[in-house]
This record gives sequence, structure tokens and C-alpha cells, in this order.
Amino acid sequence: MTLTLHVDGDRWRSHLLATAAAQPGIVPVVKGNGYGFGIGRLARRCDWLAEHAENTHPAIDLIAVGTYDELDEVASRFHGSLLVLTPWRPVGAALDVSATLADRVVHTISRVEDLRALTDEQPHARFVLEQLTSMRRHGMTRRELVEAAKVLAERRLTGLVGVAMHLPLNVGSHLGEVQRLLNDVVAAGLATRTVFVSHLTREESTTLRTSYPDFTIRPRIGTDLWLGERSALDVTATVLDVHHLERGEAYGYRGRSMPKNGHILIVSGGTAHGIGLEAPTGDQSLRSRAATIARGGMDAVGLVRSPFSIDGKQRLFAEPPHMQASMLFVPSGARVPAIGEEIAVRVRFTATDFDRVEIR
Ligand SMILES: *Cc1c(COP(=O)(O)O)cnc(C)c1O
Repeated sequence: MTLTLHVDGDRWRSHLLATAAAQPGIVPVVKGNGYGFGIGRLARRCDWLAEHAENTHPAIDLIAVGTYDELDEVASRFHGSLLVLTPWRPVGAALDVSATLADRVVHTISRVEDLRALTDEQPHARFVLEQLTSMRRHGMTRRELVEAAKVLAERRLTGLVGVAMHLPLNVGSHLGEVQRLLNDVVAAGLATRTVFVSHLTREESTTLRTSYPDFTIRPRIGTDLWLGERSALDVTATVLDVHHLERGEAYGYRGRSMPKNGHILIVSGGTAHGIGLEAPTGDQSLRSRAATIARGGMDAVGLVRSPFSIDGKQRLFAEPPHMQASMLFVPSGARVPAIGEEIAVRVRFTATDFDRVEIR
């Protein structure tokens, strides 16, 4: 009845330990849908990792969440500090952090005015100062960093934990950019030598540690940690129903007719799980179909490819996925799986809510 993420526990855990050992100072990122595992489960795993990882210096004393709203779910499961990746703003959820959590939270500050506003209210708040990178998402320019350093000095603030930089994915080398940003930190006279970075390769981290021995590099890692050992992960859906239909017979919400003889399969996994968002929009004009066929998304019978496969063969959606289930088309001649059988599904882990996560 279920869309299941099967995890080979031994393999997965050894990968987590190996990643932590290869990335000293790692800050595990636990956010969103928890990379398919759920953020509560990952937060508990971080506590385990903190205890079992070897060669990690600094220790795994800090994990990162995406939003203030995620704090409560991880706080009872991981016992160290909690970095919030969304920058603090003087509105919304950032102002609702409970008093019991306040000491464990590390805020991200990306504007000088926010540094003033946060420390007006909480002079002892802990924070990282985010630098603007080529991502151009959040962060302070060199000039603003200098201004922030002045605020720190004037107010004698003690909560500075480090600087943070969010780098784009796969754009060749990040080293030149990181070097410029680190030089800005030194030039601003900031009293920290800890830098939280994302998306550096292991080689880049190693190079930086060598060229900036006085800096502590703390890589924030989600995907490569939790999803880095793909052979440990396997996703299945359950076959819930099977119907044999002749060419021309009607099926589905819109009374569509069978393009050929074959079977309609109902399988678990639908839009509620994040499955098949690439399904057709309903525009079935010849021209749009031709365009879709040209892009390789649609079969000659006018159906869209699904992420479900049977015996290694990717099957077509018989119609767009439903909330908890999907309808697949299996042409005659192909093996028809039995009700209850598990079939393979390809998913985007960061956009899928599984019914179950089974760690063996
Ligand atoms: C999500 C996120 C990360 C981790 O990204 P992955 O690609 O999952 O490793 C690091 N830093 C920031 C600011 C993020 O938002």
C-alpha cells in the first residue's frame, strides 16, 4: 500500500561515518523533507554521528536546519547547537523561537540592520555573518561586512560564531571566490576564523585548509551526506490493482480510451508523495504532443513516461497521477505484475514524501 524508501542500514551508516571523517568540521544539514528520510530521523542520526564519527575536529556539535519552523522537530532529537540557514529577519518565525531554545540557536545574519535589531533584543544571541557570493541569494558585501564589524566592536558583542558563504553548485572551482571572501573577513577585522561553507569538494576543502591554516573550515553538507551512497537506497511502490482492457475501452477520470490492448495498473505513489509533477497539463493538441514527443517525454501512443518501472522497463502513465496512487499503462505482451508486488520508482529524494522509510 506504500511508497517505501528502503535503506541498507550498514552501507548507509558506513557512508555517513566515512563522509564525516573525510570532511572534518562537517555541519550536517537537516531540512525540508529531510532528504526523504524526514528531519526528525536525521536529527537523531546526527546525535549518533556525533558519538560515533572519528577524526572529526571540531566535533559534530552543530547541525543546520533550513527554517525557524523546523527547529522544534529537531531540537528534541539532536542535542547540540542549531544553525538556521534562512537569514534572521525582524518578522515572522524568527521572533517566535522559544526561550528554552534560544541559547542553542545560531542565527544567520545577512544585513547590518538585522544585526542591530537582533542584538537590541538579545545582546547574547549567537550568529554567523553571511557573505554575499556569486549565488546572489543573501549576504553582506565587503563594505557591509566592515560596517557589521563596527557594530560588533561598538556593542562588544560576543555572539559571533563565524562567517557563512553559500556557493553555487558545480561551477568549476570555488577557490578563487572563497579566497576573496576570506580576505574580506580578515580585512574587516572580524574576530573569527571559522567559516561555514557549502558545496566545496573535498579537494577544495583540503586546499583551503592548507592555504588558510588559521581558519577552521566547516562544510555544511546535506545531499552528499544523506544521499551520497545511492546503492544503499532503493524506492518501491506497491501494485494495488490490475485491469485488462481492450483497445478503445474507457478508463480514468476523463474517460480516456485505451490506445492499445493491455493492462491498467494502479500503483501506490501519487501527487501527495511528490510523484509525477511533470505529468501533462491537459493540453493534448497535436502540436503540443509533437513537442513533447520531440523532448522525449511522451510515447507514440500519447502517454507520458512515468518514474515507475517494471522488470527494468520504464512504464507510461495512463493518466496524470492522483493524490495517493498512479495509473500506469502496460501494453499486451509485457509481464503484468501481481497485486501486492513491489515495483521500482525513480524519485527526487528532496521532493518526495515516503509513506515509510525502512532501514534494514
Ligand atoms: C541546503 C543548504 C546546504 C546543503 O546543501 P546540499 O546541497 O543538500 O548539501 C548548505 N547551505 C545552505 C545555505 C543551504 O541552504
